[in-house]
Amino acid sequence: MQTKTNNTISRSHFLRSVGIITEGILIKSSSIFAQTSPVVGMKNAAAKASIIKQSLRGNICVLEGAGGNIALFTGTEGKMMVDCGIDVSQKKISKAIADIGSAPLKYLVNTHWHFDHAGGNEWFQREVATMVAHENTRKHLSVATTIKDFNYTFLPAPKNALPTTIFQDEHVMKFNGSEIKMKHYSPAHTDSDISVYFSKADILHVGDTWGNGSYPFIDHSSGGTLDGMVNAANHNMEITTDKTIIIPVHGPIGNRQQLMEYRDMLVDVRENVSKLKKSGRSLKGTIAAKPTAAYDEKWGKAIVGGGIFTMLVYADV
Ligand SMILES: [Zn+2]
Ligand SMILES: [Zn+2]
Repeated sequence: MQTKTNNTISRSHFLRSVGIITEGILIKSSSIFAQTSPVVGMKNAAAKASIIKQSLRGNICVLEGAGGNIALFTGTEGKMMVDCGIDVSQKKISKAIADIGSAPLKYLVNTHWHFDHAGGNEWFQREVATMVAHENTRKHLSVATTIKDFNYTFLPAPKNALPTTIFQDEHVMKFNGSEIKMKHYSPAHTDSDISVYFSKADILHVGDTWGNGSYPFIDHSSGGTLDGMVNAANHNMEITTDKTIIIPVHGPIGNRQQLMEYRDMLVDVRENVSKLKKSGRSLKGTIAAKPTAAYDEKWGKAIVGGGIFTMLVYADV
């Protein structure tokens, strides 16, 4: 495991860990977009990736390299983990958790049902008594669920991989001397997304509602919508201050200023695509008009490029 103490998980490590860069060469991702599902690429990348630990504050750290960013909160009562990454990363994640100390793992929280966040549920269920998630996470994990744009169907998860404590709107816990508030985003990236706020440390994990430095994927087949993503970004801004540390689920640890920039980008692209669609442009014509051009250099280099993001937005305006 590598350790970082400053506030930057590098962008190149992020891109590499999601399978976008190998040997310094930028590879065009195939997905909605071509034959191979990105699920396969992400799993392969996670199998090779090292785990980077980044300490934040208040005994909270982030483990990166196993799919989505994992938050780990340690204290006298034990450990709480937010997301558990892709199943292929279990051994490495487990070791990273053990290296942090011998306190038992008590809770696992899923920010949503996707494989790069809940893929380790079955394995970690053997160690934790309680797995907390939104009720739709349990629902999606319980049955065969297809992410249409990934061209991939996930089989029902085994019973012992299903969350044991589920909620609808919000769930508040006391653990290790801190209040932990979980809140459902009314559909955003999926219909199962939640935020997890550690009050004492003033750290917010926003699930897949924000990738710091990348266009978001909107999982329409799981109930996600662009308007929901904008609402989620607005909600995240409402409940944070300039001092809050924000854990995006993919990309470097961020802050409110960066989150605002992301929200403004979403709103602007929505406006651009909407105008083109309302003027009668086809999807192909809208993509050709490059409504994301001003943002592609900064946001378009991970899995979702400008053209793909335009496709996702076009479906929602
Ligand atoms: Zn994700
Ligand atoms: Zn996701």
